[in-house]
Amino acid sequence: MDEVYISEISWPVFEEKIAAGAPVFLPVGATEQHGPHLPLGVDVFLPAAVAANLARRLGGLVAPPIPYGYKSQARSGGGQQFPGTTSLSAHTLTLVVKDVIHDLGLHGARRFVIVNGHCENAWPLVEGLDLAMTELRRDGISGTKAMRLEYWDFIRPETLERLFPDGYPGIELEHASLLETSLMLLVRPDLVSPELMPDDGPAEFPPYDVTPVPKGLVPASGVLAVAQGATKESGQLLMDDYVTLISEAIAKEFDL
Ligand SMILES: [Zn+2]
Repeated sequence: MDEVYISEISWPVFEEKIAAGAPVFLPVGATEQHGPHLPLGVDVFLPAAVAANLARRLGGLVAPPIPYGYKSQARSGGGQQFPGTTSLSAHTLTLVVKDVIHDLGLHGARRFVIVNGHCENAWPLVEGLDLAMTELRRDGISGTKAMRLEYWDFIRPETLERLFPDGYPGIELEHASLLETSLMLLVRPDLVSPELMPDDGPAEFPPYDVTPVPKGLVPASGVLAVAQGATKESGQLLMDDYVTLISEAIAKEFDL
């Protein structure tokens, strides 16, 4: 049995691990198109995998991931028009995160790490966490501390140079592209169809949003940059960076 998943342990085991100070990881993703070669759950699978590796290394627990995220945006996820992209309003996502963190806090958790897998979630997660911490304080619970992060920010410059010798397009344009495809080849290769990788990118976006989204702005495939060249080995390099660098940050913040 893999003892890091809250969904797979009993309440006495949960109680014991929390009492020992286990940090609780909450992966938050999205159900969103990722081109024809990747599944709709990429933004859930990847932060969940990063969180599980971190929990194994640090003696933490992984809460069931939140599978829906804030609305997909044209310049970072292609937008809401792709079939299957199913999203929450910012308000709903905020309240889901607030309720989950608050309940975990009522049951003794004091260290939280929200691992975000979908760019658009960032501010609703900040808000949900803020409301949860305020509520816990009002409930008389003190000593809680939380981190909120985007896993992709924890990457060594030398890894970026190795994977992107011609220059890194930036995480928003990387949607369904080299990074996410490489990581999926590592984490869930059974769900990747390399033969369906499109070649209609990279997108060229102005530095602003337009509503309604102009026709032709987003590549028809939904892939915003280029997925070609993705490998499992690159996925492993990325995962190693994420786990090493995030572990260091967590150890620093939580005095582990
Ligand atoms: Zn996304």
